[in-house]
Amino acid sequence: MRPLIYIIGSGIAGLSAAIALRRAGYDVTVITKELHGGSSYVSKGGIAAATAIDDSPQMHAEDTLRVGDGLCDVEAVRYFTSEAPVIIEELIRMGFEFDKDLRLEGGHFRRRVHHKTDETGRVLTEFLLKEAVGLGVNIVEDELMALQIGDGVIRGFVTRERGLISNVDYLVLAMGGYAYLWQYTSNPSTNTGDGVAIALGWGRGFGYGVRSISPNHNNPGR
Ligand SMILES: Cc1cc2nc3c(=O)[nH]c(=O)nc-3n(C[C@H](O)[C@H](O)[C@H](O)COP(=O)(O)OP(=O)(O)OC[C@H]3O[C@@H](n4cnc5c(N)ncnc54)[C@H](O)[C@@H]3O)c2cc1C
Repeated sequence: MRPLIYIIGSGIAGLSAAIALRRAGYDVTVITKELHGGSSYVSKGGIAAATAIDDSPQMHAEDTLRVGDGLCDVEAVRYFTSEAPVIIEELIRMGFEFDKDLRLEGGHFRRRVHHKTDETGRVLTEFLLKEAVGLGVNIVEDELMALQIGDGVIRGFVTRERGLISNVDYLVLAMGGYAYLWQYTSNPSTNTGDGVAIALGWGRGFGYGVRSISPNHNNPGR
């Protein structure tokens, strides 16, 4: 029998994982608090990737590290800046149409922001949603409340509407951030850090830690 995979969250991260896993032949169910919730749906500006002829992932990484002012995880920056052009190419191959021009945004010394009008996040999320549904991914609105643990392993989880779902083979948490908790925020009300809290609660019980949760993104940034 094929393993059953649950993904929590229908932002760009959750939907991308769902599409990749479905293409690999798995049965995938996405559970999401709000289909049109999360940051992906409201993000506007676009996706930075060094695809121009006068640009390179290394230059992108240098710009990022400079404005990061010593706070960046260098390995993560190098990974994301080198993967970004690959992702843009993959999205175009899937049929996503970015506008032709690349935008220059704060901190970047090259034009590298790929966008779709000023609604990049919404248009891309809807595109990925359609792709996922077309591939047969099951998508339902519900809310993850807690994990069911047995012998140190995640066996299942509890949702607000469905109660306990057990015999889960794999669980992916793609539940976004927590910046709605700030008094002044541009983040949607789904961003209450449920995923971080649930993962931390599980991890603490088994001696795992989290490297850092302090940096977070509000937009427009300062
Ligand atoms: C206003 C704004 C503008 C931005 N602009 C840009 C930009 O121009 N360029 C850029 O690169 N980045 C931008 N960002 C950041 C970017 O949008 C995020 O980094 C990215 O979308 C995160 O994607 P994600 O899939 O990880 O999370 P999200 O898109 O936040 O998805 C999280 C998902 O988890 C679900 N969820 C949460 N809790 C639960 C629960 N308990 N049970 C079930 N489901 C749950 C939510 O419903 C949602 O579907 C912006 C962010 C904001 C807020």
